[in-house]
Amino acid sequence: MTIHAERILVTAALPYANGPIHLGHLAGAYLPADLYVRYQRMKQRDVVFVCGSDEHGVPITITADKEGVTPQAIVDRYHEANTKAFERFEMSFDNYSRTSLPLHHTTAQEFFRDFHARGILTEKKEQQFYDGQARKFLPDRYVEGTCPVCANTEARGDQCEKCGTYLSPMQLLNPRSKISGAVPEVRETSHWYFPLGSYQRRLEDYIRNRDERDGWKENVLNYTRGWFKDGLQDRAVTRDLDWGVRVPLEGYETKVLYVWFDAVLGYISSTREWAAKAGTPDAWRRYWLDASTKYVAFIGKDNVVFHCIVFPAMLMAWNDAHTEQYVLPDNVPANEFLNFEGQKFSKSRGWGIYVDEFLSRYPADPLRYYLCTSLPEYRDSDFTWKEFQAKNNNELADIFGNFVNRTLAFCARTFGGILPARGELDSRDQAILDLADKTPVTAGGFMEAYRFRDGMGEVMNLARAANKYFNDSEPWKTAKSDPARCATTLNICTQLVRTLGILMSPVIPATCERLWAMLGLTGSASTQAWDTAGAPALPAGHPLGKSAILVTKIEDEVIEQELKGLGASADAAATSATNAPSTPTATPATDPPKDLITLDDFKKVDLRVATVLAAERVPRSDKLLKLQVEVGTDRRQVVAGIAQHYAPENLVGKSIIVVYNLQPAKLMGQESQGMLLAASDAAGRLVILQPAGSIESGSKVK
Ligand SMILES: [Zn+2]
Repeated sequence: MTIHAERILVTAALPYANGPIHLGHLAGAYLPADLYVRYQRMKQRDVVFVCGSDEHGVPITITADKEGVTPQAIVDRYHEANTKAFERFEMSFDNYSRTSLPLHHTTAQEFFRDFHARGILTEKKEQQFYDGQARKFLPDRYVEGTCPVCANTEARGDQCEKCGTYLSPMQLLNPRSKISGAVPEVRETSHWYFPLGSYQRRLEDYIRNRDERDGWKENVLNYTRGWFKDGLQDRAVTRDLDWGVRVPLEGYETKVLYVWFDAVLGYISSTREWAAKAGTPDAWRRYWLDASTKYVAFIGKDNVVFHCIVFPAMLMAWNDAHTEQYVLPDNVPANEFLNFEGQKFSKSRGWGIYVDEFLSRYPADPLRYYLCTSLPEYRDSDFTWKEFQAKNNNELADIFGNFVNRTLAFCARTFGGILPARGELDSRDQAILDLADKTPVTAGGFMEAYRFRDGMGEVMNLARAANKYFNDSEPWKTAKSDPARCATTLNICTQLVRTLGILMSPVIPATCERLWAMLGLTGSASTQAWDTAGAPALPAGHPLGKSAILVTKIEDEVIEQELKGLGASADAAATSATNAPSTPTATPATDPPKDLITLDDFKKVDLRVATVLAAERVPRSDKLLKLQVEVGTDRRQVVAGIAQHYAPENLVGKSIIVVYNLQPAKLMGQESQGMLLAASDAAGRLVILQPAGSIESGSKVK
C-alpha cells in the first residue's frame, strides 16, 4: 500500500564534504531519489527535492590538519566537486545547499535553543583528554596511542585500524595528542545530551504506523528493530571542537553542535534556502509544516538510525511545544550497498570509481540506466564493467535505441518523414496499443512503491514488445503488398516511440530529449503527463524531425581498457581524492614546454630561500595571504594567492623559495616585494615549493 499525496517533499542524504562521491553513493540514495522525483513531477504533483553538502565534523578537520589547510578549504573543494558531479549525472535537485551557510547555522541553533529552554536536554559532566599546549579538548580521533588489544602504537582514539577494535580515547596506552604530540591530561568537561531513550515508545509507534500506511522496506524495519531491541541511549548533542555550528549558549562558546544533530536539519535549511532564492521565503512552510505533505527521505543503509530514529525524535520534541508541526518522514527507502567488481568501494585501498571520473569517459544516461537495473534495493549488488557494457549494448541500444531508429528510418524512407495515418486495426495492433496504455499504470505502481528496477523494467518490456510488433508486422513486405497496413503499422510504431520517450525519461533524460526532437516535437519529454503517455497522441501528417543514432554502443576494446586499468586508475583516483580538489582523474597529459630560453635568460631570475616569519589573511580577499619573510638579513612582505590552499598558521617557520628581484606590486592595497614559488596541477591543487633539506634563508637557488 502507498500513500498518494499531491504535495511531496523529497530529500536525499547529504553527502559528506570530505571526499568525492562514487558510484556506490549514486546507487544508494541519489539515483532512486531522482527517479522518484522525475516520476512524481510527471504525475503533476507538487514536489520539492532538496539536498546539500554535510560540512561539519571531525573527519573534515583531520583532513584539513593533514593537508595544512583550513576546514573551509576542504569543504569548499568537495562541495564544488560534488555539485558538479551531481549536475553531470543529471540530478534534478530543486536546491543543493551546504551546512556551512549562516542560514543553516541559524536553523540548527533554533532547535538547540528551543530544546535547551524547554529543559529537554540534560547536562553531563565527563572526563576528557585535554592538550595543555594547544589548549584544546581532544575529540576521540585527536588522540593516538598504543592499542590495548594488539599493541599497535598508531591506534586512534575511536578505533585501532590494525585489529579493528573500537576504542575510547581513555583505553589507549601512552596516549598522545595528534595536534601537538604532547601527553594529554584528563580534564572535566560538560556536554548536553538529547534523551533519545524517552522517545523509544513513540518512535516504535511512529514506524509501525507509517509502515502500515506506506509499506516500509524490510531491511529498514530490521535495522530499526535492532536499535529498539538494544534500547535507545541518550546522545551527546555538543562537543569540544572549533569547526561546526556554535552552541548558542553563554559559557559554551567553545563548543559546537555534534554533526549528527545539525546535519539532518540541513534538509530544512536547504528548503528554506530554496524558498528564499525563489523570492517566496515562506514557501518552505508549505512542505515542512503542512500535515498533508508526504515526506520521503532517500538514504543509504548506513544512515538508517539518523533518519528513522534520531531525526523523527528531534521533530517530535519540537512538535510537542509548537502549534506549527513539522512533518516526519512517511517513508525512508534506504538501499543496501553497491559493490565494485566484487569488492566494497574503498578510498583507502583505491578500489572503485568516482562519479566525475566516470562521466569524463561516458555520458550519464548509460550509467543511470545500468545502475537503475542493478539498484541494491533488497540486497547488495555489484557494478561490473562487462555488465555496464552489456546493459548499454544489449538493452539500451539493441532494444530501445534500435526500435526508435528503425521506426524513424522507415518513416523517412517510405513516407517522406511524415507520419502516415492509421487505418483499421487488427488484433496485433490492438494488443500493442493496449499494452502501451497499461504500461504507465503498471510501471507507476512500482515507482510509487520505490521499486525502480521493476518500474523501469516494465517500460523496457514495452520496448521489447514494440520491437516484436515491428518484426511480426513485417512492414517491409506490406509496403508493397498492402500500403494501408504498412501505414497503420508505422503510425503505431511512431506513437510507441513517443510513449517510450516519455516513460524512459526519468532514467535516461538526455537521450529522451534527443528522441523528442527526432519526433519533431517541441517542449520536453520529461514534462509530459505520465498517465496519458500511452495514448496515441501524434496526428497523421505530423512532420517528423531529423534522426540520428540514439544510443551508441560501447566497444569491447574500451571495456578491456577499463578492466586493465582497474587497480591503477583506482589508485590514481584515490591519491587525487585525498590530496587534490575537484577532478579526480588519472594523470593528465603534460603540457608542451613554452618557448626555449638560454641559461642567461634563466640567470636573470634571482631565486632565494626565505623563511616565513608571520602570515595572515588579506582583509576582504578570500584568495590572498600576506607573508612576512626573512631572506638572510633582509625582511620583506610577500602577498600570495594561496589562502584557499593553506591556513596562515601552518606556514609560519616554513622555508620557501621567492623571486627576489621581482618588481614590487600592490595586491588588494598590500605591497608585495617578491613572489613565492608554487606548483599547481590541472585540477587546481596548489603546493608551495620548499627546499628538500634544511638550508639557511637567503641562500641562492641555482
Ligand atoms: Zn589494535
